[in-house]
Amino acid sequence: MIYLDNSATTKIDPRVLKAMLPYLQEEYGNPSAKYYTLAENAKRAVEKSRENLAKLINCEPDELIFTSGASESNNFILKGIADFYSNKGNHIITSLVEHSSILETCNYLESKGFEVTYLGVNQYGQVDPNELKKVITKKTILVSIIWGNNEIGTLNKIKEIGQICREHNVFFHSDATQVLGKIKIDVQDVPVDFLSFSAHKLYGPKGIGACFIRKDELGLKREITPLIHGGGQEFGYRAGTLCTHNIVGFGKAAEIAYNEMDNYIPNIIKLENELKAKLESEIKGIKFNGHPIEKIPGILSVTIPGVNNELLIRKLKNQVAFSTGSACSFNKPSKVLLAIGMNLKEIRNTIRISIGKFNSDIQKIPELIKSC
Ligand code: PMP
Repeated sequence: MIYLDNSATTKIDPRVLKAMLPYLQEEYGNPSAKYYTLAENAKRAVEKSRENLAKLINCEPDELIFTSGASESNNFILKGIADFYSNKGNHIITSLVEHSSILETCNYLESKGFEVTYLGVNQYGQVDPNELKKVITKKTILVSIIWGNNEIGTLNKIKEIGQICREHNVFFHSDATQVLGKIKIDVQDVPVDFLSFSAHKLYGPKGIGACFIRKDELGLKREITPLIHGGGQEFGYRAGTLCTHNIVGFGKAAEIAYNEMDNYIPNIIKLENELKAKLESEIKGIKFNGHPIEKIPGILSVTIPGVNNELLIRKLKNQVAFSTGSACSFNKPSKVLLAIGMNLKEIRNTIRISIGKFNSDIQKIPELIKSC
């Protein structure tokens, strides 16, 4: 079986699993408990993980909190900012190509009286920073734009967008779930206030994510209404006993990405380019969606005329795994592909191939597709 659905999730790195196991066995202390060694060990492991993740995005460790995943991080920032800053304004700006955990949260906030502007995108799936400038008003409190798209891989102009938000004194959040461990993220270089991540997209465990929350100009923690109230863990932003083993897994995955990205990303790009060339030469009329260069390494959105994507995936289910698009939008036509101007027929002809660091031989994919 060739696994090519690395944007849906990745296989856990064996070193990540190994690092996690002690915290499911002998090191079972609660990191919030006090003074005794078992608790101190767990606390130290959590803080080490926070440091590893901070190193990967170049922030302070206490600008990161652990969550259950990017869906929670997205919900927390949108709902938390909307709630806390509602006296400042009730307007949020996002785009048509966001993950459902942003779009559904915006939908919910609209039902609570917030106004949401959904920016369209160009043919590649990018928000035009000039369009953003035009729609910011005095009531705008938050802009949330995805960094790299999960379906077509296109990267947004995050630095430019962040600068516009700074100039207008508006918070800027970006869903960075698909870019962590795939492109360099340096929050000292990019003016973003909040970021969302999930560990299972970079060879870590499922059910653990994080949120970057930049401190304010005075170096103080930004105030946001928590999604989960309770024991005051995670600097009061997110209550609940910490999931030590998952946090340790995320920390290890971040450490590996920091040390090894420069080795495995060029290999992913090489595999992608070879596969793209082979698909192009062997399948007539094939089309690639998304930006050809400003993209996440490894994601290929491919439209093959005359091929029903669901049937293709089912026919090849024991040989290869890829997807129709996002794993989170089953049974509905992809909003991302609609937003870049594709029609329903083209969407039905479209598959997403996402290559990861454990892939090696994927050159028989065109043959497999042709055999269907
Ligand atoms: N945002 C993006 C861009 C994603 O690709 C995903 C995962 N498909 C999420 C958010 C949600 O992540 P999780 O399911 O781990 O909460």
